[in-house]
Amino acid sequence: MKLTVVGCSGSFPSADSACSSYLVEADGFRMLLDMGNGALGELQRHCGLYDLDAVVLSHLHADHCIDMCNYWVVRYYPPDRAIGPRLPVYGPEGTEQRLATAYGGDLPSDKAMSEVFDFRTLTPGRFRIGPFTVEADLVSHPVEAFGLRVEHGGRTLTYSGDTGPCEALDVLARDADLFLCEASFTHGKEDIPDLHLNGREAGQAAERAGVSRLVLTHIPPWTDPKTAERDARTAYAGPLELARAGAVYEV
Ligand SMILES: [Zn+2]
Ligand SMILES: [Zn+2]
Repeated sequence: MKLTVVGCSGSFPSADSACSSYLVEADGFRMLLDMGNGALGELQRHCGLYDLDAVVLSHLHADHCIDMCNYWVVRYYPPDRAIGPRLPVYGPEGTEQRLATAYGGDLPSDKAMSEVFDFRTLTPGRFRIGPFTVEADLVSHPVEAFGLRVEHGGRTLTYSGDTGPCEALDVLARDADLFLCEASFTHGKEDIPDLHLNGREAGQAAERAGVSRLVLTHIPPWTDPKTAERDARTAYAGPLELARAGAVYEV
């Protein structure tokens, strides 16, 4: 499968990147993991506006889902064409209401969101999305939040979403070929439980899970990425790099 980093900035966009959004492609199927601030613009560098086959939202913090409001406009008012088939959108309980409220409350009808999006509630477990086997589990964050393991053709990509250290993350990442793991905090600086990882904790999770490659992501503009990378290296000996917008990986 092919992974494209659409956006990788944590919590708010940086001058160089939109917030969280990752395009995963295989067998001509395009699945987007998260659509944070600015991701809808960047996405158009990588595929057409109507080329997505599914969207999965790890959780409903704005930096992971808010551009879905604008994407609703894209799908509800397509110029010179009819409204297309409903797009499967997987997310936590309440995703439709969250997006409708965030949009501003003047939607044409109560059903306007679900006229273009086929909302499917995420629950822990394994299921199919197109050619992918996806495993979702609850991770450690102040709102309902999922980590995601995506398998295709014997290869595995794990995406942490937003989380503090937790066993569910280690299980989702076990033996992954690529582990896209958040590193929002700096070791020795922030110490807030059940919220985010720092670089060292991301490295420790990667080491415990025995992943083949670690890509650190969701680093906010006020966190030094080089420190996060250095801290991760103290715990993880395998290939390691920082995510950057536009990077492409063959997993
Ligand atoms: Zn976030
Ligand atoms: Zn979050």
